[in-house]
Amino acid sequence: MQFCPNCGSKIFMKIPEEDNRLRAVCDNCNLTHYENPKIVVGALATFEGKILLCKRAIEPKIGLWTLPAGYMELNETTLEGAVRETVEEAGADIKILRLFAMHDLPFVNQVHIFFLAKMNSPSLSPGSESLEAKLFDVDEIPWENLAFRSVSRTLTYFIEKKTLDKDCVYTSQFRERGEK
Ligand code: ZN
Repeated sequence: MQFCPNCGSKIFMKIPEEDNRLRAVCDNCNLTHYENPKIVVGALATFEGKILLCKRAIEPKIGLWTLPAGYMELNETTLEGAVRETVEEAGADIKILRLFAMHDLPFVNQVHIFFLAKMNSPSLSPGSESLEAKLFDVDEIPWENLAFRSVSRTLTYFIEKKTLDKDCVYTSQFRERGEK
């Protein structure tokens, strides 16, 4: 942030009184603009054991496969966001079953949350953010062409969950770029 979203004056990074972190401060309107992590919400949706993936039509990671997911919007719940993203990216009609995985990515200031879902029908209609939406058997998952580590980790948890606690919410922390 370079300029104050409130008045347009130059922003200075400083540690406000009674704080311990650098913040974006506007001396003109005396406001501190707090910047906080963003939440990405998505769904691991299945139909008759097959997993729904979307091929990205937009950067970053254009042409790679992902679980339907995206930034949470204002005035929605995480669950509503996951359903919305799945409709937008795959045109799939889903029913959310439960919270499944949460990944912390502090190096990009994001939290990724994935729900387990069932598709009510196999019908798909990819939106403008997807080149393709497709159902994959577990042994067909394009591991080498997945867009994000949080996606591959979520898929790994799903595949391994039969040997783990079936009601568990899986969590992981990616602290650095490139870490598997
Ligand atoms: Zn200002």
